[in-house]
Amino acid sequence: MMDFPSVRTVYGSLESMLAKFDKYSRRSRFTGGSREELEAWQRESKKTLSGLLGLHKMDEAPLIPSRTESVSLPWGIVRERWVIQTEPHVFMPFYLLIPEKRKEAFPILCPPGHGGMGKYTVAGLSEYPRIRERIEFYHYDYGLFFARNGYAALCPDARGFGERRESLSDAGKLPEAMMGDCRRLANMGNPLGIPVAGMLVWDLCRAIDFLLWHGEWDTSRLLCAGFSGGGMQTLFLAALEERVKGAFISGYFYGYRDSLLRQNENCACNYVPGLWEHFDMGDIAALIAPRPLHIQYCREDRQNGPRGIDNVADAMAIVRSAYELYGAQGRLWHEICPGPHRFHEETAARSIDRMLKECAHG
Ligand SMILES: [Zn+2]
Repeated sequence: MMDFPSVRTVYGSLESMLAKFDKYSRRSRFTGGSREELEAWQRESKKTLSGLLGLHKMDEAPLIPSRTESVSLPWGIVRERWVIQTEPHVFMPFYLLIPEKRKEAFPILCPPGHGGMGKYTVAGLSEYPRIRERIEFYHYDYGLFFARNGYAALCPDARGFGERRESLSDAGKLPEAMMGDCRRLANMGNPLGIPVAGMLVWDLCRAIDFLLWHGEWDTSRLLCAGFSGGGMQTLFLAALEERVKGAFISGYFYGYRDSLLRQNENCACNYVPGLWEHFDMGDIAALIAPRPLHIQYCREDRQNGPRGIDNVADAMAIVRSAYELYGAQGRLWHEICPGPHRFHEETAARSIDRMLKECAHG
């Protein structure tokens, strides 16, 4: 006899949930046909999205910025470690990578994705073998990449990652240290109507406050770029925060039905309670229009879902229609890269430079 009952068939809920998705999803999607209707929809939808993310429940607190470390790197880059307070008793450490020609730099926020231990991979601390492995596989050190291209790159620990943990013991062992503990955050926040994505957006807004406080760089052309879970943060932040003037989203763009409902084993950060009832991902990206937006995705990224890039194309069609109504098609770039889930830096520097020029035109 086996130790436990042998299950030879399973009775799942996916088919039922897909039908419910078709019945209840996207009730706040854009259906108008003019720029005026689009602008009105954007105003209303930003309020809806902000409410779903629980941003009205986040608490203001003095930043109390403190610089704790300053290290000179090759390529003339200085890496500073800072800590700010983002809410009462909530602190966010981050690296600020300052390029050699610091006076000519423009700031860029580089939120981290999953599986890379927060700021350490994005800022390129490749002296640690496990970090180096992630950098080599995903090209995860985009913060360092942008700094090497002359930008002042702010690479934060998102809540749940790097030094921002609920349990010190988890932070001390692999693979827990690499994976993060966003599940704990979701368990605390979701029942309060404060999903993880909302916490992450709030903290990034405070990072912008820090840049304003710091005062060295021109935040009127502030950009945000992220890969994977960092792409998710870039998407939500740029949708809601007008101080972000251009966004580069890599490895996080598709329709929810195929990618997050069918592939329901993804982590809790992706599942904002009530979100699908109102919006698909293309709708959220449409809130960024007409600001410059680069969407980069990989043809064989399994996250695209069973229909592959057709699922991405459907989401692109939604966001493209918004840019067209603004007459801003030239500010929306989409790029299909070969291979699996990975950041592609080949086009990133050129694209980011182009965004800056677009921002200068207002
Ligand atoms: Zn997560």
